[in-house]
Amino acid sequence: MGHAVMTHTQNQITTTLTALTPNAQDAFTRYMEQADNAGTNHDYRTAMACAALTAGIPLPDGGEIALCACPNCWDCQQIFDANTPDAHPFGESDGYNLGRIQCPLCTDRHRATDEQ
Ligand SMILES: [Zn+2]
Ligand SMILES: [Zn+2]
Repeated sequence: MGHAVMTHTQNQITTTLTALTPNAQDAFTRYMEQADNAGTNHDYRTAMACAALTAGIPLPDGGEIALCACPNCWDCQQIFDANTPDAHPFGESDGYNLGRIQCPLCTDRHRATDEQ
């Protein structure tokens, strides 16, 4: 984790789920579920690309975005680059492709302990 090299030359790749239209929120959730359940890397990448497109943000260099899974403010809804060094992965992904990650702001404000 945290090995991604970011150039910080591009605009912040972030938005919130609540900023999207209800239809887009639906689609975004479906694409993230597709990514989570993808059987191949190709399917995973495709689902991630579609999710980013739906959220209206550019796909980050790492090809992965995440929805904040902060357990301390469950309505954060931040969508961000999953590989940003400021984010905080925690807990277990439990057999799925996607781990649980806190957005940089939540990592800063109330970092989760490393438990389920
Ligand atoms: Zn957050
Ligand atoms: Zn939070």
